[in-house]
This record gives sequence, structure tokens and C-alpha cells, in this order.
Amino acid sequence: MSGCTTAADHHYLFPQGLDEAIDIEVEEAKALGIRVTLTRGSMDLSQKDGGLPPDHVVQDADTILTDSERLIGRYHDRSDASMVQIALAPCSPFSATKRLMRETAELAERYDCRLHTHLGETEDENRFCEETFGCRPLDYLEDVGWLGSRTWLAHGIHFTTEECRKLGRHKVGVCHCPGSNAVLASGFCPVKELTEAGAPVGLGVDGSASNDGSNMIAELRSALMVQRLNHRSAAAFTARDAIALATTGSAACLGRPEIGRIAVGAQADLALFTLDELRFSGAHDPIAALVLCGAQSADRVMVAGRWRVEGGLPTGVDLAALRQAHGRAAERFC
Ligand SMILES: [Zn+2]
Repeated sequence: MSGCTTAADHHYLFPQGLDEAIDIEVEEAKALGIRVTLTRGSMDLSQKDGGLPPDHVVQDADTILTDSERLIGRYHDRSDASMVQIALAPCSPFSATKRLMRETAELAERYDCRLHTHLGETEDENRFCEETFGCRPLDYLEDVGWLGSRTWLAHGIHFTTEECRKLGRHKVGVCHCPGSNAVLASGFCPVKELTEAGAPVGLGVDGSASNDGSNMIAELRSALMVQRLNHRSAAAFTARDAIALATTGSAACLGRPEIGRIAVGAQADLALFTLDELRFSGAHDPIAALVLCGAQSADRVMVAGRWRVEGGLPTGVDLAALRQAHGRAAERFC
């Protein structure tokens, strides 16, 4: 509803009884008609072994690798028009062992799928890596065989200039999550340094723990605000730069040049916005208006040539029922 045509989801919790979480996501994505890269997330380093997550939410490496292989075999479609791809995604240095990182990279190489993890999100992570692995997070990533164009990272804030160059040389992607970074006060992702170095940079909304609304078009505005503040310059980041992150940049992070652009031969994925609300009525440049005036919802969204949102509403979804069910589920966490 906020104009997203392809979603990448990092799901890394598989408590007992929810072993088939990714299978459920595939089913739901198919019903919605949205294109997805679903990551088989994982955690195998719990508190008892010096990690961050409690013992009951982690799985052992063998279970994770076997299930990753099962999901790739069942759902990973590498064709141009693919609606479902599987990526492999140990959660973060705090929650995955070196063995899991290494063997996950080998699996991704064997089956030609992408690798994803959190890296460079907080200063804590620098300290943790130095204490646990004796090096900085990016050196750790290199050590476990992840430094390559298959990999895209969430956040990517605490990188030095030299590290940005290294990411660029190896074509490692970074997903900038400005809303989450602001909510959690994590810091500024060096978007310009990364793109100038040749690293693909995309745009993400992060999860509900740090971006409660997850609105894609609104995230473009956050990117513009955060990057201008980062450079203390209004000229440093334009509305078109924000759109590039959310389209070609994100598609590059997912390794999918056939999406994220409007061109002959590309996939027919479109998000259409009307500018007839009062908030837009003074605008001269429609592209800048979309980002600067705070657009909230798409009027129409097409995925793979089919309208999936019309008149601002998703087709075939009972929103009132969904809202109730979601509210009830959330109450259980109070
Ligand atoms: Zn995150």
C-alpha cells in the first residue's frame, strides 16, 4: 500500500511449532501477489555460548543448514520473472557462530542465492567483534567468506572510509534503514561514500521493533532528511537520490537488475501515486513533491503486470479483519 512491489524479509526466529515460518510467508506472498526475497534467517549462538539471544530461540547449525537447503530446493526460483527467491541470513555477529557463517556462504555459492546479515549497526557491535573475534566487523565478514557481490548488509553505519572502499571493491550491498537508525539513534549510514565506492545501496524500513509503520514511500523522506543531516548540506542528497535508493539500489542489493526500473524488457512492476491531496497542491516538481511533501500511500501498484493495489487498497485482502487479527496477536505481547 505504500508502493512496495518487491519485499525482502529477514525472518530469523523459529520457535517450536513455527518451524515452517518461511513456508507460511511464501504462501502469503503468493496470495498477495507481491514479489519477495525471503531470507532463511538463523541464530545458533545463544547467551550460554557468549551470544545475545536467549537459549530457547536459537537452533543448532545442522538444523539451520538442512532447512536452508530444503527451502532453496522448494522455493528458490532464479529466473528473471521470479516471484519468490530464498536468501540465507544468519542474524548478526552477536547471534551466529563462525561455522554457521562459513557454511551458509558455501551453501549460497552452491545454490546461487544471496546472503544477508546485520552489520555495522551499532558501536556495541564493534566492541563485541573486537573482544570475541579480535577484529572489526568487516574483517570478521571477510574471514567467514562473505565479502562478495552475493552479500547485502542491513544498516551498514559504522564503517570507516577505508571500509566503505573495501565494500565497494567487493560489490557488497548495504540496505540503508534511516527510520530505524533515527528511532534507535544508531547513527548515519555513509550512503554517499558507499555509492561512490561502487557498493549498491538500497532502502529498507527495517522491522516492527524499530520502525512501527514500515511505510516504504515515507521512508524515502526519512532517507532524504537523515542524509542531509549527515552531510549538514541540503544539496548533498536529493529527492531523486532517495528514489534511486528505493528502486535501482534495492534491486541491486537483491541481485535483480530486471526490477527497480521502468524499461523495455524489465519486469512490469509499478507504483503509481496521485498528487491530488492538499499537501501536494503547491508543488512544481512532482518527483520532489512525492518525497518532500510526505506521500503516504500509492494509488495503484502493479506487480508482474497485475494490479495488486487499486484505489489505495490491496486486492483480495479484508483489511478490517486483518487489522483485528493483528491487534489481537499484538495484545499477547502486552
Ligand atoms: Zn534491523
